[in-house]
Amino acid sequence: MSNIVQEVLAANQNYAAEFGNKNTLGMPPARRFGILTCMDARLDPAKFAGLAEGDAHVIRNAGGRASDDAIRSIVISYKLLGTREWFVIHHTNCGMEFFTNDVMRKLLASSLETASLTEHGFQDVGKGPGSRAGEYIEWLTIADQEQSVRDDVEHIRQHPLVSKNIAIYGYIYDVSTGKLREVSPTRRAEEAA
Ligand SMILES: [Zn+2]
Repeated sequence: MSNIVQEVLAANQNYAAEFGNKNTLGMPPARRFGILTCMDARLDPAKFAGLAEGDAHVIRNAGGRASDDAIRSIVISYKLLGTREWFVIHHTNCGMEFFTNDVMRKLLASSLETASLTEHGFQDVGKGPGSRAGEYIEWLTIADQEQSVRDDVEHIRQHPLVSKNIAIYGYIYDVSTGKLREVSPTRRAEEAA
């Protein structure tokens, strides 16, 4: 077995020991903005975007895609907690570029064990049985990084529950340099209007 649970709890003890006055933070993000980005382990939005506790909302999922659930969170974020600006940040070398709906569905139908990423893409190496339940999920894979950012910015901007006053910016994070690069044209709401 792994030692992950012990490691996490030990790290948390250290964190709590240095907690300071963070018990005074308010619930609404103090800097009134949010970030939608990928769950990729190489990305740390608190570090690459300079966030401290209490500053901003961060929504993460596979790809940083504007899924229904991401939009649910964004609407709650601005409507109830006052955020006014959002960043959609996808990244280079995203795992979501290495498969399609069809590939994912076939892999899951074959087995529920972890697949291997080979030079021919993800290949199933586990033993079955798998499940065909993946047929019912839209996996929101990425064929083109810039286009996926533009699509998600536009999808959020055009959503009937998202106020036109919310500014939405589109960026790509480069995992080889740590730099953010703006995707154009995804300028802020008031410029697009
Ligand atoms: Zn990713």
